Amino acid sequence: MVDVQDLAKYPFLEEAQDYVRRESGTLDILLKSERGRSLSDAAVTRVLDALSRKNPQECRTYGRDAQEDLFSYVIARMLVSCLNDRLLIERLSQFEAQKAYLSFIEEEKAEKEEIARALGIDIGLNSLPVLTYVPLVSGLHEERWKLVNRSVKGGRVLLLRIEAEELIRERMREIIRERLPLSVPEEVCRQFLPYTEAIAAAVQQQALEEFGAVDESSFPPCISALIMAVTAGTNLPHVGRFALTAFLNNIGLSTTQIVEVFQRAPDFDLSMTMYQVEHISGRSGTEYTAPACATMRTHGLCVRRDAICEKVNHPLTYYKRKKKMRE
Ligand code: SF4
Repeated sequence: MVDVQDLAKYPFLEEAQDYVRRESGTLDILLKSERGRSLSDAAVTRVLDALSRKNPQECRTYGRDAQEDLFSYVIARMLVSCLNDRLLIERLSQFEAQKAYLSFIEEEKAEKEEIARALGIDIGLNSLPVLTYVPLVSGLHEERWKLVNRSVKGGRVLLLRIEAEELIRERMREIIRERLPLSVPEEVCRQFLPYTEAIAAAVQQQALEEFGAVDESSFPPCISALIMAVTAGTNLPHVGRFALTAFLNNIGLSTTQIVEVFQRAPDFDLSMTMYQVEHISGRSGTEYTAPACATMRTHGLCVRRDAICEKVNHPLTYYKRKKKMRE
């Protein structure tokens, strides 16, 4: 696969990386030119499309030609790396994997097998070694992917051809995700500041649109139970404090507002609480996402399930759903 058009379809493959490395002089000059500005604009659009979970079917290419498309992928990754925002990194990885997968499923059988091999998966065999399969499906929550629900023969997990192809998308996402964030020199990030500021503003706006004003009556039962426990003076285990803080941070409460929740505890310690909240809410670097229902269950934090719980697998989805129903 040598055509730049093919490379642009699978920009995370080694060959595409080699192409970018070879042309990186051009990229450097490009960034400082008029065309560089339009390339950066294309990269911003790419990131914003990923952030808003736009259907990749509607945005197959960015820029005026395949080379610009490929470079806009590179710049998009640099932009999210400068911002080092976990949500953006996850969304971009998912978006790019889905986009590449759409191209993949349109390929002929031989090309599919070649691309799959480049990703370390032999789809022609309709099976995967257990050791490859298990980490690959760790992010997939459907029951059918669980090892206990699969047939295993000779140390290999048997797969239908269509399932093997689905796993290609997951492999793509994994490859794109594991290389992020890139280490982008500070000077380059400074150069990108007008673009990263625009993206950061969109992230803020998206959080507001997604969750809106805080509505405590839409909290899922597990979160309400944690708040009641804090109020009653129960000493919450670390995982409970973590789940509560991350949830409140994810729906847009400020550090002060989260501290106010913990302030209801009789043994409230301001500086310790501030430290924990700042750490979990990412004001010190990494932002954490509230645990999913499966994790909450594992730690005994999934309590007083109600009808909405039957339809969700994340407390944040519960909150969004109930809030919408109430509105
Ligand atoms: S099912 Fe999920 S949202 Fe409902 S109580 Fe359990 S953890 Fe919370």
